Amino acid sequence: MNETVDVVVIGGGPAGATVSTLLAQQGLKVRLFEREHFPRFHIGESLIPETYWVLKRLNMLPKMQASRFVKKYSVQFVNSRGKESAPFYFWDNKPHECSQTWQVVRSEFDQMMLDNAREHGVEALEGARVHEVLFDPTTSLGASGADPGRAVGVSVKIGDGPLHEVRAKVVVDASGQNGLISNKLRLRVWDPVLNKGAIWTYWEGAYRDQAKDEGATVVLQTPDKKGWFWYIPQHDNIVSVGVVAPFDYLFKGRGPFEQTYEEEVERCVGVKERVSKATRVTGYFATKDYSYRSKKVSGDGWVMIGDAWGFLDPLYSSGVLLALKSGELAADAIVAGLAKGDTGAAQLGQWDADFNRGVDRMRRLVCEYYDGLSFGNFIQKYPEHRGTVTDLLIGDLFTERVDKVWAPLETTYAADKQPIPAWNIGTPVTDAPEKANELFLPDDIGRRVV
Ligand SMILES: Cc1cc2nc3c(=O)[nH]c(=O)nc-3n(C[C@H](O)[C@H](O)[C@H](O)COP(=O)(O)OP(=O)(O)OC[C@H]3O[C@@H](n4cnc5c(N)ncnc54)[C@H](O)[C@@H]3O)c2cc1C
Repeated sequence: MNETVDVVVIGGGPAGATVSTLLAQQGLKVRLFEREHFPRFHIGESLIPETYWVLKRLNMLPKMQASRFVKKYSVQFVNSRGKESAPFYFWDNKPHECSQTWQVVRSEFDQMMLDNAREHGVEALEGARVHEVLFDPTTSLGASGADPGRAVGVSVKIGDGPLHEVRAKVVVDASGQNGLISNKLRLRVWDPVLNKGAIWTYWEGAYRDQAKDEGATVVLQTPDKKGWFWYIPQHDNIVSVGVVAPFDYLFKGRGPFEQTYEEEVERCVGVKERVSKATRVTGYFATKDYSYRSKKVSGDGWVMIGDAWGFLDPLYSSGVLLALKSGELAADAIVAGLAKGDTGAAQLGQWDADFNRGVDRMRRLVCEYYDGLSFGNFIQKYPEHRGTVTDLLIGDLFTERVDKVWAPLETTYAADKQPIPAWNIGTPVTDAPEKANELFLPDDIGRRVV
């Protein structure tokens, strides 16, 4: 069976749900294919405040406000010696309801987002794996194998059925780390410095702060400064606690995930105390977490968003924001393009440069932390920059206004600090086959997270 729609979206995570909802709101015929059956487990549980504006456009705010997700008002850092920074309260900086965000359980959040897409008219099919994106080679400029021609649709397998083709004016790749198009066109570049791994599990009855601090994300540096823990309180008295550290340190020559995790908890007093009276309710999850980006966001007839485009280290919980934001920017570019009959690469990717600049700002803040930046010390020296640092932490990345923080920050550098290498001097994916982002799920995922 061959069919034609306006837009095909590959993947029903936050990026795919966002772009498809916004397109359907404009009356376009959108078909979304998701290979899993929801609800399904996913990591990425802490939202940051700038998600508010996209959630508002999606008509998701009333649903979020009525949900059981824990409200998050701040982020707090604990240094390697256990010294706590004052919390960065988002409201102090921006007294608006957008300054309250949420700690979500992704299986529930992603289901809500996909249901919301359907309510807006998106035809979303689960258990539908896109096999490949179809390109029309007769439209190729033919200069190199890197130009496959215009994307014209996908071939998809629904359940155990046969492969069938769906034609579309635009194909959106929102397939997450799977990165269907960037893999096919070899567009992915590994970040030269952000090579991390993570191991995490879920605790019931772990320590929770009170009142508006209950939902704070706490980032605790490990004593040897090699890594950090996330501490994310969720509903039903569960806390998600994970350790992130350089890949080699965490996974090479160490025991099973459980043993490594327990060793790291044992060393980090702040975490050890917080979980001392808690019960672990799942097994251990792990990922190899190499950061990457794609060399471009679009081609003729296609555009990629969310993790399909790039993944940035989880330190400041920016992943879902970047998925939502790129979904929004791509949707606006597609609507404008279809209105004027232009679905070329430049039109669909008109947001590429600005978006990259915004992600560069977040990446710089990530790299500064790994290079020894202490938020507490910095704010003590430059209290007038607390607001700008908070702007970056809430995800207000797409404005030059926040760049005023870098010069004062550079005055705190150690004499021997090396400049941070740009992401695009990293290794092309084809040259580092040993690198691959992988997720390891435990046998006992536990009732709480699916
Ligand atoms: C350790 C870790 C911690 C993190 N913590 C946070 C955090 O606290 N806050 C935060 O905001 N972000 C966090 N992130 C990042 C976050 O998980 C991602 O950035 C986010 O999920 C990206 O959304 P997405 O929609 O692009 O991709 P996904 O959520 O991965 O969705 C992609 C979807 O595409 C589907 N798919 C894939 N291939 C196909 C195919 N061929 N056909 C059909 N469907 C397909 C998949 O099944 C999936 O459902 C974290 C990431 C990691 C690794």
